[in-house]
Amino acid sequence: MMEVRHLKKKFQENTVLEDINLSFKNEDVTCILGPSGAGKSTFLRCLNLLEKPTEGEILYEGRNLLDNQFDIRQLREEVGMVFQHFNLFPLKTAAENIMLAPRLVKKMGKKEARKCAETMLAKVGLADKADAMPSSLSGGQQQRIAIARALAMQPKMILFDEPTSALDPELVGDVLSVMRNLADEGMSMIIVTHEMNFAKEVADRIVFMADGRIIEDSAPGQFFSAPKTERAKTFLSRFL
Ligand code: ADP
Ligand code: MG
Repeated sequence: MMEVRHLKKKFQENTVLEDINLSFKNEDVTCILGPSGAGKSTFLRCLNLLEKPTEGEILYEGRNLLDNQFDIRQLREEVGMVFQHFNLFPLKTAAENIMLAPRLVKKMGKKEARKCAETMLAKVGLADKADAMPSSLSGGQQQRIAIARALAMQPKMILFDEPTSALDPELVGDVLSVMRNLADEGMSMIIVTHEMNFAKEVADRIVFMADGRIIEDSAPGQFFSAPKTERAKTFLSRFL
C-alpha cells in the first residue's frame, strides 16, 4: 500500500533520515519505536507530505507521492493522521470537529455529516459527547475525538504520532483500546509509540529507529524477546 525507497530528509545541513527503505502492507499494524530525536515524527510527516523528503521515493498504491502530478488531496483524504496534541478546533463542538473534513472535502451534506459524526463518536465510546466543547473533555476524550475525526474520512490508513504521550496515565488505556479495536477491524496503521505492551500485543511488525535510520525491522515476538542489536537492547531495558 505504501512503499518507501531510499528516503532521505535533511533540515538545512542536518540529516534527520538516511536511506529509509520500508513497505507497508494493507491491514498491517506497524509500531515505530525508538529514542527521542530518532526521526520518527519526521518519517511519519514525510509519509503524508507534511514534510517534503530531500531524496528518495514514496509510492502510495504504486504512485510516487513526490511526483508533481500526484494529487495530494487524494492522499490527505485516504491517509488520516492523529497527533500527540489532538489539534482539535477549540471553538467547535466534538461533532463539528468531526464533520468539518467530510463537509469540506467530501462535500457531504450537513445532516449526513452529523450522522457520520455520531456514528464515529459511538465507535470511540463517546456517543454522549457530540455537543461538548473540547475544553470540557479530558485529554483522553479529546484524543478519541481526534481519532473519530480521522475515521470520518473513511481513510485507508491512519498514521499515529505518539497518540498517548500527552495523556495522564489513567487516560491512556481508553485511547489504546480504541486503537486496538481498529486493528482488529483491519485498519492499516503506522503508530509511533512508547507503549511497549500495546506494541507487543497489537503490532504485526516493529520498526526500531535511531539516529535517522532503521536499526531493526522484525516481528514483535522477535523484537521484544531477542532484539538483534545493542541499540535495541539498551532502548528496551529502559522500559523494564
Ligand atoms: P522523534 O519524533 O523520533 O523524536 P523527530 O523526527 O521529531 O524525532 O526529530 C528528528 C530530528 O530532526 C531532531 O534532531 C529534530 O531536532 C530535527 N527536526 C525535526 N523537525 C525539524 C524542523 N522542522 N526543522 C529542523 N530540524 C527539525
Ligand atoms: Mg516525535
